[in-house]
Amino acid sequence: MRVVYPILALLLVLFSFLNCKKQNDLIEPKVVDSLFYTTQEKAWIYAADSSTAFTPFSALDSQQLIVLKKTSKNVKVPNDTTTYLVRRMLKTYAQYATYQNLAAPEIGINRNIIIVKRLDKNGTPTEVMINPVITQHSNSTSIVQEICLTLPNNYPASVERYNLIFLEYYDLEGIKHSEMIENQTAALVQHAMTHLGGGVLPVTIDPLAFTGQEIDSIMNQADSVPMRIFLTTIYTDSLILRKQSIDVRPDSNDVVLMTLIKRMRAALATTTGVGIAAPQVGINRNIIWVKRLDKPGKPFEVYLNPKIVMTSSNTVLFNGDGCLSVPGITGRTLRWAAIGIEYDLLDGTHHTEVVQGTSSTNFTAVIFQHEIDHLNGILFIDRIAKSIQNK
Ligand SMILES: [Zn+2]
Ligand SMILES: [Zn+2]
Repeated sequence: MRVVYPILALLLVLFSFLNCKKQNDLIEPKVVDSLFYTTQEKAWIYAADSSTAFTPFSALDSQQLIVLKKTSKNVKVPNDTTTYLVRRMLKTYAQYATYQNLAAPEIGINRNIIIVKRLDKNGTPTEVMINPVITQHSNSTSIVQEICLTLPNNYPASVERYNLIFLEYYDLEGIKHSEMIENQTAALVQHAMTHLGGGVLPVTIDPLAFTGQEIDSIMNQADSVPMRIFLTTIYTDSLILRKQSIDVRPDSNDVVLMTLIKRMRAALATTTGVGIAAPQVGINRNIIWVKRLDKPGKPFEVYLNPKIVMTSSNTVLFNGDGCLSVPGITGRTLRWAAIGIEYDLLDGTHHTEVVQGTSSTNFTAVIFQHEIDHLNGILFIDRIAKSIQNK
């Protein structure tokens, strides 16, 4: 076993490296090309001087409606044409200020640029948001009365909008911003972003986005504050501990994900534990922290979406398995001697690794099995060796 696995691990690492490289080669050129303005777009943008407003498009005009229904593309920042376009958009926005937002498609350019009045900031400044992306949103929504520049006579209309959104966007200098935006301003952003999607419907729901309930329990304290460890002795906690967890989207810019990870680590730090899984702090997501007893310095490391993809044929009886969520009980559990795992890291990279170690000084393989079990609603007490249970 000790001879076979290092070779296998090496092959797996090599394979995943080759795989990643191939994907990058395929994707990159396409993204870069679409960032540049077409000749047609430039003709429209530079048709007047930068202090001249555009004439807004109308959804009642069948030719202009085609443009309004198109999906917009990202732009490059900083970029002279983008700056020129935004100057003209700001002039247009100022002429129709009652709408409090303007999206580039509304003036005939299918690019991801919006202007929004920041009702949530002092002095309600007008802000330009380039390539905006809603990374998370609350579950809770409100019905908002909205007006739209492209349908001046058909509004106000009642539209459902998320009360809270997490928004990532760039400014004209190319600086990235990540913000939580609420209520009226969030509704304005959602309205403007609906234009970027070429539609009039609310944004589509991402199945991996954190739910409103998850966001509430993760963001209710600073990221240094430990989350409460759920216990099998509390009935409502035990229901969460027995639930199947779901994946997360790896993203180190995701404020909610980063806060959850830090607060899990803080919770673990209040104990003598060597690992923790997200369900243990009440969040059914595939995230674990593991103390790498097999690495120099024995660091704590975080893994996203970990899965056991292969197991050794031989098992061991591991003495002294225990759990932060199962107070007062330890036991001898049946564990695989070695496992092959797959996981994602925060930078979005995917990894495959063989983990060994079931001895009293290095039981890393047991820690991974214990923590990944949590993600499937399995507790160590389910693994207590049958022969021991029967005695
Ligand atoms: Zn509109
Ligand atoms: Zn546990």
